[in-house]
Amino acid sequence: MGPDNNGTAEYDYEYEYVCVHMRDGYLRVLRASVVCQTRLMHEVGLMQDALRIALDQARKEKAARILTLRMRVGALSGVVPDALSFAFECLSRGTPAEGGKLEIESVPAVCWCATCKKEFSVPELGFECPACGTIATELRSGREIEVASIDLE
Ligand SMILES: [Zn+2]
Repeated sequence: MGPDNNGTAEYDYEYEYVCVHMRDGYLRVLRASVVCQTRLMHEVGLMQDALRIALDQARKEKAARILTLRMRVGALSGVVPDALSFAFECLSRGTPAEGGKLEIESVPAVCWCATCKKEFSVPELGFECPACGTIATELRSGREIEVASIDLE
């Protein structure tokens, strides 16, 4: 292996950007519209964190491969699952997670009604309790972005 840290360049028409896979597993976005870049960098950042957790776990357990990385993503988290999958594919290259599977579990948004003392699921963007009409101030789930579990080999 040479000392260069330039990986392969890739162009994605859907997201309108060019990225380079660095040897250290980081992804460098070279050209993108500001909106696309911001959107993609969000998922790339999240995936870097998730992969760090998975790779640390693999190292600790002396596993050779990460077979499956399961993530829980809330319906209101703003994460685009396709972008997250793409980031996984790019960032896992050259790591024990390469060729592994990313499973994304979508977590529905659930609010708590303080009047009824009950949870209710949030339809679209309504936070009104269907039973009493109180606007919920507490969101119990729907914003999470987390690693749920990891299968190692
Ligand atoms: Zn209520």
